Amino acid sequence: MKQARLDEYMEDGFKNMEKVVEDRENYDEEKKNYDEGCIYCRSFNGVYTAMGKKLKLHPGSLFLFIEDGVGVYADIDHVFHRCREGLIQNIRFLYNMFKHFSSMDLKVVAVGKAFDDSLYLYVSNILRLHQGRAVYRDFTVSVIDNTSLEEFKRRHYYMQIVDKDIVEEALGGG
Ligand SMILES: [Zn+2]
Repeated sequence: MKQARLDEYMEDGFKNMEKVVEDRENYDEEKKNYDEGCIYCRSFNGVYTAMGKKLKLHPGSLFLFIEDGVGVYADIDHVFHRCREGLIQNIRFLYNMFKHFSSMDLKVVAVGKAFDDSLYLYVSNILRLHQGRAVYRDFTVSVIDNTSLEEFKRRHYYMQIVDKDIVEEALGGG
C-alpha cells in the first residue's frame, strides 16, 4: 500500500472508530435514562396488571406502623429506589388506612400492602372476623389480629426502613 492511501485508510478507520464511540455514548446515555425511570409508573397509571388484574395502587410492598412517629418499611431495592413519587403516594394511602381503622375501636399495630393491591391490617385486639377480612374503600383487607408491634417488626425485619425525610414529606411535614 502506498503511503498516501495508507494515511487515508487510517483516517477513515479513526473516523469510523469515533463514530462507534459516539454511538456508544448515545447508547449509554439513553440506557441510563431508561434505567433511571420507574418502570412501574410507566406501565402503571391504571393499566399495570399483575396476574391479569388491574392495579389501583403503585406497585411495591410497603408497611406502615407507629412508634415514635410514623415508621415505614418498603421494598426500596427492587421498586422504590427509582420512584420517590410512588413511595410517597403509597405512604399517604397507608397512613389514611391506618387512621381509618384506628378510629374504629381497633388497636392498630400496622398496615401494609404487597407488591400488588393486596392490603393487610395488623391489630393487637382479638377479633372474630368473618374469614379474617375487612374492607377499606373498594379493597379487601386481610386482617392479622392478636399481634404486637414487636411481633410485626420481627416478621418484617428484612425490609428497608424509609428515610424520615420522605415520610415527613408524604405526610405534609407531620
Ligand atoms: Zn413509579
